[in-house]
Amino acid sequence: MPDAKVALARPGEIRLEALPPLSLYVHMPWCVRKCPYCDFNSHEQKGDLPEDAYCAALVADLEHALPWVWGRRVHSIFFGGGTPSLFSARSIDRLLSDIRSRIPVPADTEVTLEANPGTFEAQKFRDFRAAGVNRLSIGIQSFNDAHLKALGRIHGADEARRAIEIAQKNFDNINLDLMYGLPAQTIAQALDDIGEGIRWGTAHLSAYQLTLEPNTVFYSHPPKLPAHDAAAEMQERVEELLAAAGFGHYETSAFAQPGRRSRHNLNYWQFGDYLGLGAGAHGKISFPDRIERHARAKQPREYMAMAPQGRSIVEHRVVGRADLPFEFMLNALRLVDGVPVALFRERTGLEIAAIEPALARAEALGLLERDWRAMRPSAKGQRFLNELLELFLP
Ligand code: SF4
Repeated sequence: MPDAKVALARPGEIRLEALPPLSLYVHMPWCVRKCPYCDFNSHEQKGDLPEDAYCAALVADLEHALPWVWGRRVHSIFFGGGTPSLFSARSIDRLLSDIRSRIPVPADTEVTLEANPGTFEAQKFRDFRAAGVNRLSIGIQSFNDAHLKALGRIHGADEARRAIEIAQKNFDNINLDLMYGLPAQTIAQALDDIGEGIRWGTAHLSAYQLTLEPNTVFYSHPPKLPAHDAAAEMQERVEELLAAAGFGHYETSAFAQPGRRSRHNLNYWQFGDYLGLGAGAHGKISFPDRIERHARAKQPREYMAMAPQGRSIVEHRVVGRADLPFEFMLNALRLVDGVPVALFRERTGLEIAAIEPALARAEALGLLERDWRAMRPSAKGQRFLNELLELFLP
């Protein structure tokens, strides 16, 4: 079992009757250039990518983690980044074969790969599909050249359109990532972007409001963003436009055509399990008597050195009983339809009575709605999600 610097093991505090679905997250940590708003674990590519060494480290990491997930099968696979589409189709193909030969992956498993315009070559994307990737998530962000420039993206609007065309020739399950609330953006421009996203006819759209995150260039040198009221109106109008086009709003920033929700992301939000492989990847694994969280070495070089020795994990903790309600709610309350009441006990091993006072308070404040079957954030709760979540802090 992998080594760990921190191990606050307190097993035996809970008892799970069944284990949740298990997803696999694979982090590819390089990008052509670091975007000034990005707080992901992404590193500017300098020289050739060490594709073979990195893929070998991922496979070694998986092998060392297998004892934690014996007998379980994979519910979904997600290659995230960074920019996974910088990797060759040959590497992705081999990785998927290596994964399939070590852990059961049913034939209909959702396999998503994140891709950025500027890395699209027709043949490569045909080969990604042939390798078994069946869903693409494309980081478009905007169709407006001035806004793409302000975001420090490497692509322009025409390149974004070309990327979608190539994607649509090979994939029928595509997500477009779009952002609004951009520097100097008007409401009309935000709606133009979403409108064009809709016209491409993809199954899924993610619409994120730009936020200034610590440890980013934008945080230390903030651009002028739309005022609070304008940003709130943008959000409302964006949601209306997507609803009118038949997109169901199912999570804070996620919108899908009927039947096309992301199975991988839904598993996170329903407090499912995920094994995170790769530099800086996080994981959550349930056992009958405990739930564990793991984090892997963040620097790619360090990760590649440690994973083959079974030492990629730098943080390893058992989630304490007192922290479980907040951790569950942090995910579940992002879902517009909420979750079945019974899921709380199923995924945390705790009785719903453990959070009854917080649920009652949230209801009294108009932040939460529930009946005997389901609990969900109210419209007010969706707007004031942090206030709602605070009620579940230990
Ligand atoms: S392309 Fe994505 S992951 Fe890479 S730096 Fe930009 S926002 Fe971050």
